[in-house]
Formats: sequence, C-alpha cells, structure tokens
Amino acid sequence: MPKPAKPHLTVIGTGYLGAVHAASMASIGFEVLAIDVDVDKIEKLKAGQPPFFEPGFEALLRSALDSGNLRFTTSFEEIGEFGDVHFLCVGTPQHRDSLAADLSWVRGAIASLAPHLDRPCVIAGKSTVPVGTAAWLQEYINGHAPAGAQAEVLWNPEFLREGFAVQDTLHPDRIVLGAHSDEARDQLCSVYAPMIAEGIPVINTTLETAELVKAAANSFLATKISFINAMADVCEAAGGDVVSLAEAIGYDTRIGHRFLGAGIGFGGGCLPKDIRAFSARASELGVGDSLSFLHEVDRLNSRRRDQVSDWSAEMLDGDAYGARIACLGAAFKPDSDDVRDSPALSIAGRLHLAGAQVRVFDPQAGPNSRRSHPELIYATSAADALQDADLVLLLTEWDEFKSLDPVAVAKLVSHQRIIDGRNALDPQKWRAAGWEYRGIGRP
Ligand code: NAD
Repeated sequence: MPKPAKPHLTVIGTGYLGAVHAASMASIGFEVLAIDVDVDKIEKLKAGQPPFFEPGFEALLRSALDSGNLRFTTSFEEIGEFGDVHFLCVGTPQHRDSLAADLSWVRGAIASLAPHLDRPCVIAGKSTVPVGTAAWLQEYINGHAPAGAQAEVLWNPEFLREGFAVQDTLHPDRIVLGAHSDEARDQLCSVYAPMIAEGIPVINTTLETAELVKAAANSFLATKISFINAMADVCEAAGGDVVSLAEAIGYDTRIGHRFLGAGIGFGGGCLPKDIRAFSARASELGVGDSLSFLHEVDRLNSRRRDQVSDWSAEMLDGDAYGARIACLGAAFKPDSDDVRDSPALSIAGRLHLAGAQVRVFDPQAGPNSRRSHPELIYATSAADALQDADLVLLLTEWDEFKSLDPVAVAKLVSHQRIIDGRNALDPQKWRAAGWEYRGIGRP
C-alpha cells in the first residue's frame, strides 16, 4: 500500500508529554488524533482547556484545534484506523511495591491498540521505559496485531523539560531514534523534518540504546544535583560558599554551570522514579553494582528535605510545634503545576506533622497540591501566606518569590526568619533588612 504523503499521527496518553507533543505536531502541519483513558482530560482538551499549567501550551492547543489539525478521541479503534505513526506517551510511574517502573499503562495502551493495527505503521515510544520494553512490545504486537511485524516498534525518547515543554518539543536539542528498519526511521525523520532542517542532530541507534539514553541522561542530571548538594554540606561544615564554588567550577567547560544549583533537591514525575527504575533494571540484568551510586544520589537528595525541616526547628528555637510557617512554592520547579514527588510539598508536609501551622502558596500548583496534601493550609497569595509568619521557607524559585522585597515582607511577618531553599535570594539584601537568613551551603 503506498504511504500517504504526510503520515497521520496519533498520540496515546495526553499528559504533560503527550498533550504538548500532539499540539506541537499539529502546529507543524500534521493531522493528529490523540487519545487518553481519562475522559475528563479529553473533554477539556477538546474544549481548548489545558488540563495542566505549561507556559505557551494553551495558545498552541487552541490554534491547533482551530486549524482542524488536532482532534481528540477515546476510541482505540479510531486511533488504529487513522494512524501511520502512533506516539506512545503514557505514564510510567514508580511501582507501588518496588523501585521498578510500573509498566501497566504501557501494556494497557498496547493491548488496546494492537487489535486495531491492520496495516503497516510505526509505534514510536516516547515514554521513559526500562531497557528491553520496546523489544517486548514488538513481540506482543507480532502476536496480537493483524499487521504483525509490519506494525514496527521504534523508540524515540523524550527529553522535554516542564516549564519549557513547547520550546523543547518544537526545538529539541537532539532526536534519538532506536529502530530495526530504515523504513521506520525514515518515517520518523519525515515527521521531524522541520527540526532536522534546523540542524538538530539525529542519533540513529538500536531500540535498547535509545531506551538507555533517557535513563542515562536523567541519572547524570540527578547525580549532578546531588553532587552539588554534597558540596553544599561540605561548604557548610568548612565555612565555604557553594554558590561561589559552583560558579567557579562551572567555568570549566567539561563541568558547565547548568544543574549546579544547591538547594532542596530534585523531584517531579521523572528524575526520582527514573533513577530508581534504572537501578532496578540494572539489578535484573546482573549489573546492579555498577549503578549502586544512584542509591547514594537518591539518599543525598532525600536528606535535603530532612535538613530543611531540621533547620526550621532550629531557627524556631528548637521546636516547630505551634509555629506559623509560610511555604512559598509547592510545585517541584517553577513554571509548572506538577507536584509529583515535590520536595517543597514534602517539606511542608513534614513540618505539618511536627505540629507547625503551615500555610502554602504557589502561583499555579494550588489545586494539585490540595489534592495530594489536603492537610495543609493553602493561602490565596504570597502576602496571605506570609501574614504573621514565624518562619518563611522559599521552596520553589518562582520569579514572583525571587523578586520579593525584604523590607515590605518584614512588615507582614511576626518574625524575620527565612530559609532560602533554592539559593534564589540575595543574602546581603535580606540580612541588611534585618532578616535572619539561611541559604543552602552558604555561610
Ligand atoms: P502524565 O501522568 O502527565 O500523563 C500520562 C497520561 O497517560 C495520563 O493522562 C493517563 O491518563 C494516560 N494513560 C494511561 N494509560 C493509558 C492508556 N492505556 N491509554 C491512553 N492513555 C493512557 O505523565 P507525563 O509526565 O506526560 O509522562 C509520560 C511519560 O513521559 C513518562 O514515561 C515520563 O517519564 C516521560 N517523560 C515525561 C517528561 C515530563 O517532563 N513530564 C519528560 C520526558 C519524558
């Protein structure tokens, strides 16, 4: 059967990754049909309402819908009939009872899709999966899809950063394609032609390497963050300043400045679960020892959360019980409403359990935070959270918090004490305004 001039694309799973991918591909001229098992999410997307906060996404979604290029469905039959390339974007969270990835969403999506694949097509996996998943999926497809092996699984891991998802999807820094056949690879190259024309490098490799690239990249990034946080501990003990240290080592181009901010550590729906899943898979493969350092990376990261709750008690004369604490930030990073494994909310939760009255404010993550931590108090503004606070914690570095005026904030609080969990403020300015200021790894 001749291939259509422009392949029809489908996107399976419309979360942070899939919804942005679907709208982005529609914006560069492809007809896209996207599916999710979450009916509410699909209804919102159809109406042009983003189910999550991501800068630039709402405008992209609306213009893609208006162009007629983007449609949503809940029918896998329609997806199978329509698609030449199926992008698999479902979640792969941590398993409830182990460190491994829970692949039930991946398996569920493929089981729903396979019976409807009755002509040659490509299934391009974008989810982050343990190495070996793609080969397993191909075997499943061979046995369950009417098209058999003519429905080819390819792996095309995604590297977008929440907060920059639209930019990263339309202008990625690299495209990784793990494929068996040249036909599948060519099909994906035709989809990404505008990016390739910009000079974005394409790495052609095997299914296994493509799966491993993503796990390796996230492990490296997590290690870099835990490394600088370990340096912060040493700076504190020795009277050094980790901010100057990071600036100085970052000028070495082999090291670089990015991802060298000491603070309360990494969180979100990717790094923590990805390094655990990578370790678990390495153990299954008999090379667990080679990744044992990731356990230490994870431990160093969790310790940041304990440290800030311990410091809070110290600054409150030994006990957080009954104190009023303002937590500025709940999302795991600024410009996102994602609170999955957020260090900010984890610290707020610990202080609540220690008997503090914790008032949280986040510019976008309020609704998600309320769902995951209903026990906390949610303020309507930064000023509302800060009112009469005995201690202020800056936990997510939103611009709104970085630009707070220490003199004005002093008029709202009961006691001028602040822990800058992201080293986002100017300590001199805050101290000069009478604040007891504590940063991470700073004198
Ligand atoms: P998410 O939880 O926001 O979205 C996943 C979506 O999949 C949900 O809407 C869910 O309802 C849907 N889903 C589950 N089962 C389904 C099925 N059988 N059929 C159709 N839809 C189904 O997750 P996310 O953040 O978008 O991440 C998705 C994948 O992408 C993960 O593997 C993640 O590690 C990876 N990833 C995420 C990011 C990121 O920044 N969020 C970046 C790169 C890679």
